[in-house]
Amino acid sequence: MSWRPVDCHAHSLFSDGALTVGQVADRVRSLGVVPSVADHISRDVSRSVSDIDGVRAYLDALDGFPVLRGGEFCWHDSLWRELPPDLVLRFTHRLGSLHAIRLADDTLVRAFARRLPRAITVREYMSGHLASLERLAREMPVDVLSHPTLVALPFKNVDPSELWTDAHERRMVDVLFEANIAFEISTRYPPHERIVRCAVERGVRLSLGSDGHTLAQVGDIRRPLALARSLGVRDEDLYDPLRHGSKTRSGQAVLA
Ligand SMILES: [Zn+2]
Ligand SMILES: [Zn+2]
Repeated sequence: MSWRPVDCHAHSLFSDGALTVGQVADRVRSLGVVPSVADHISRDVSRSVSDIDGVRAYLDALDGFPVLRGGEFCWHDSLWRELPPDLVLRFTHRLGSLHAIRLADDTLVRAFARRLPRAITVREYMSGHLASLERLAREMPVDVLSHPTLVALPFKNVDPSELWTDAHERRMVDVLFEANIAFEISTRYPPHERIVRCAVERGVRLSLGSDGHTLAQVGDIRRPLALARSLGVRDEDLYDPLRHGSKTRSGQAVLA
């Protein structure tokens, strides 16, 4: 069978997506892309799989469809730490997300809150962001860092070159390389090209993710794929849980 890209990151009605698992599978396959469902598994996302029984039911449901079984876990929430090993093994791949970061004084800054908990400079925020990333990489057995350049809403419009200095970018890619975590090129939160180039030059694997929630979004990884190719990355080196394995150690082919 010829190579097909994998959309490692898409949501269904199990969390905040608008489609059933079957609809995600059908739509993504129709685009010539290998589907996966990677719903939120967290106690700190409003529509999410939010307890262990829920995770079991979610995985049972995914078993009935030709989709890779992913999950998007919040680093700052403890649910991922509580999953029993038999459930962990059933994921084909797992994504770690900084939906909140901790500053040096332990203040939690949520990515999607409109207001900051107190006055915070870009410099202080980014220092906390990178320290949180280092903790994520050390603590979380995930395969992919979701939307690596997502920052808290109040900093969203800051120029990427101010947020992501040369030193910040190098620190991020070093951390990912050492922890063997792939850098996601997200359709929803597109990274600036320089940081992706920096990841490629460091030898960090890239992963493609629509982060899609709707019929128009799931499986649309055209821009991430074009960016990866433009940087000279070979298609077969893009993260595919079945080809490259996972820290969950689940390698069974689910796509006949
Ligand atoms: Zn996310
Ligand atoms: Zn997501």
